[in-house]
Amino acid sequence: MNIDTTGIEYIVKKVMDQIDYAEETGAPVVDGKDGVFQTMDAAIEAAAVAQKEYMKKPLALRRQMIAAMREIMLKKENIETICAMVVEESGMGNYEHKLAKHRLATTGTPGVEDLLTEAWAGDDGCTLLELSPFGVIGAITPTTNPNETIVNNSIGMLAAGNAVVFSPHPKALKTSFLCIKLLNEAIVSVGGPRNLIVTCANPTIEAANEMMVHPKIRMLVATGGPGVVKAVLSSGKKAIGAGAGNPPALVDETADIEKAAKDIIDGCSFDNNLPCIAEKEVVVVDQVADYLIFNMKKNGAYEITDKKAIDALADLVCPEGRLSRDFVGKSAKYIAAAAGLDVPEDTRVLICETSKDHLLAVEELMMPILPIVRVANVDEGIDVAVELEHGNRHTAIMHSKNVDKLTEMAKRIQTTIFVKNGPSYAGIGFGGEGYPTFTIAGPTGEGLTSAKSFARRRRCVLVGGFDIK
Ligand code: NAD
Repeated sequence: MNIDTTGIEYIVKKVMDQIDYAEETGAPVVDGKDGVFQTMDAAIEAAAVAQKEYMKKPLALRRQMIAAMREIMLKKENIETICAMVVEESGMGNYEHKLAKHRLATTGTPGVEDLLTEAWAGDDGCTLLELSPFGVIGAITPTTNPNETIVNNSIGMLAAGNAVVFSPHPKALKTSFLCIKLLNEAIVSVGGPRNLIVTCANPTIEAANEMMVHPKIRMLVATGGPGVVKAVLSSGKKAIGAGAGNPPALVDETADIEKAAKDIIDGCSFDNNLPCIAEKEVVVVDQVADYLIFNMKKNGAYEITDKKAIDALADLVCPEGRLSRDFVGKSAKYIAAAAGLDVPEDTRVLICETSKDHLLAVEELMMPILPIVRVANVDEGIDVAVELEHGNRHTAIMHSKNVDKLTEMAKRIQTTIFVKNGPSYAGIGFGGEGYPTFTIAGPTGEGLTSAKSFARRRRCVLVGGFDIK
């Protein structure tokens, strides 16, 4: 029999076969050598030892470690394996887009250069404001960007001198273990301490709770829905919460409508709408609504016009008003087939007109279904966009050439990311200026997190010296 040993499926199986899984629990059999420990406590203790050792090392080693982490994560076999594995394991997303997201996190996450020292010098001497590590950070990662968040958090947190204990989402466990194993390999290959990035074999909610109260965890970072953000903010520890969004894309009559339509479909369909920043609903001024829809269709949107079919679709993806995980991150074709709709092969997004109160507009669906709400004018549009964003202060998009209205929207909606005249992903440095992050901390205000977000501000005062002005 001929076996294709170059195909992604073969490579994924080969990697998965390297990890032994206990029959009863399904948890991997581990010994800590790849950063995976049997218990959360053992993982935290190992990370604490590693972090102490890390503090004795020069910054040059940090830089070398981060370069090696980037290199291993960009290796062709690794990136392809990780991205194929995460699609298979989580059952969500689009392989090609996962590659793009993984590359973005790996190449763009700021390193040690993000830590800028401030200084005051004068008659009384010289004072430095330095960015210093917290110690061991507990980081909870989502199922929607599991590998990207591990890479992004690891680079930022280690650049700031910390160790990190991950509590990955159970639906992306094998992918998370593989990322942690590879990152540790990279660190050790350049002489860095082992176990700066760890996790436990069975990261349940109980294990995450154990992590939150462990005395050796000095900071918590949660990337996920409202439940986990609330949990870390209630921990009594320094916490960064990167929570849910429901980004509206507002289009007014001054916008370049052809471009707006393309940008919205590109952003909404990216990784099957999994990114928390992706367009989740459109609010459009009536005067240009038909032309926008016409151009969306030219870019791979399929419009559902029958009201009953729209309501049936809502019942399918939100039975009894609650989001069904069965359709999160699935393709438009897959969802259409489940809804009994016969759509063209190249359909990227299902669009439909709804009221602003419709479940499809109100829920954060995380799938390529895009409700469109018509409004009489841009002022009403801003009101509706603000309402649909639910005060998450996460992300909003606006297509307009009216600077006054763009400014008004930015002031009213108060989102961490506000993209003007581009697809949502421009907001994380993909076709827009600025560095990427996969932990966007709206609730706690750090915004697009990077190494400096994971550091303590410490003042170091030398009295009566080093003023050389
Ligand atoms: P989720 O909230 O279901 O899970 C996130 C993580 O938290 C998982 O590891 C999960 O196991 C853990 N978790 C959940 N509840 C917990 C609790 N009470 N105690 C401890 N751990 C708990 O989210 P998800 O489905 O994996 O991801 C999608 C959600 O995350 C969306 O709402 C999306 O907007 C949001 N998200 C936000 C950002 C951001 O940067 N702001 C990035 C990605 C995803």
